[in-house]
Amino acid sequence: MSWLNIRGHDDQVDRFRMLLANSRLPHAMLFVGPPSVGKTSFARAFAQALLCETHLPQDLAPCGTCPGCKQVIAETHPDFIAVRRPEDKQALPVDSIRALCGKLSLKPISGKYRIVIVEDADNLTEESANAFLKTLEEPGPGSVLILIGSAPETQLETVVSRCQVVRFQPLTPDDIAAILIERGLIAQTDQAQRLAQQAEGSVARAMALADLEYQDTRTAVIQELVDHSPPSAPRIARLIEDLAKNASKESSVQRRRAILILEDLSRFFRDVLWSGAGLAAPSGDQAWAQAAYKMTEFCSPEDVFAIADRCMLAIAQIQSNANLPLALSAWAMDLCKILQESNLSYPRS
Ligand SMILES: [Zn+2]
Repeated sequence: MSWLNIRGHDDQVDRFRMLLANSRLPHAMLFVGPPSVGKTSFARAFAQALLCETHLPQDLAPCGTCPGCKQVIAETHPDFIAVRRPEDKQALPVDSIRALCGKLSLKPISGKYRIVIVEDADNLTEESANAFLKTLEEPGPGSVLILIGSAPETQLETVVSRCQVVRFQPLTPDDIAAILIERGLIAQTDQAQRLAQQAEGSVARAMALADLEYQDTRTAVIQELVDHSPPSAPRIARLIEDLAKNASKESSVQRRRAILILEDLSRFFRDVLWSGAGLAAPSGDQAWAQAAYKMTEFCSPEDVFAIADRCMLAIAQIQSNANLPLALSAWAMDLCKILQESNLSYPRS
C-alpha cells in the first residue's frame, strides 16, 4: 500500500511522521529529485495533512473531505500558498517572492501551520532568491516552506544552506507499472511492466511511452534518421512540433512533450553508441535495437556525443521558454548536419 496513492516515497512519510511527533519539522525544506517522481504531489498531500481539521498533523492522514483538506486541494485555503513560475516568464518574478514574504510575516489564520510550496525553485533568479533569504531563515510563526527543485546544485548556495534538503529517489519499475494501471492508462500488467522498465524512474516518461501518437512520432523521427540520406531536418522538426501541438493548446504541455521526445532521442543515440560497441542497448527497447544497429553505419561515437550535447542545449532552450518551432528547427538542422558531416561514410542513394 502506498501513502495517499503517492507511490515510492514511504520512507519520507515515516521520516515526516517522526519529525512531526517530535516537533522537529524544519521550517524550510528543499525537495529534490528527478522530474515526475511525485515531489509536488507529495508536498501538496503533506500540506493537506498539516491543515486537515479531522486528523492530527503527525498522523499524516488527511481526510480529504473536511473544509481544510478541500481548500488545500482547491488552493483557496488562507494558510496554503502555492507559488509557481508564470507561463510567460522564464523565472519566478521577484515581485511574487516579495508579496509572499509579506504574507508570511503574519500568523497563520487557522492557528496551526501556514504552508508555502514554491514549485519552480530551479527558476529562482539571484534577485528573487536574495529577496527570499531572510524569510527562508526566519519565516513567520507556524510557517513551513517547501521549495521544489531538481538538485541542490541547481540552487544558489545561500538558498540550500537555509533549507533541509529532502531527496526523492526515482520510482521503481514496479511502482511505475502500478501507477499506469491505477490511472487506467494501461490495462494489461505485462505491457505496464514493459513500459515501466523503459521509463527510467519517471512516470511522465512511462505515460508518454504509453501514448500511441507519441510512439508513432518517435518511430517516424528515427525512421527519417535511419532511412533517408540525407534526413530532412524540416520534416523531423515538423513531426515533433505537430506532436507537441496535438498534445494541448497550453504552451507548458507542448514544451514538456517536445522535451520528452528530445530526451528519448538522446537515449536512442546512447543505444547507437552501445550497439556500435557490440553491446546490448541500455534502453532495453527492442523496437529500437535494429534502428540503432543500422545507425552505427553512419554515426560515429563522436557524433553521438555531439548529438547528445545538441539535444541538451535544445532542452535547456525550450525550458527557458525559447520559441518552440524555432528551437526545434535549429536543433533538427544541427542534428542532420552532424550526421551528414560525420567522418563515417554516410550512405547516399
Ligand atoms: Zn481533512
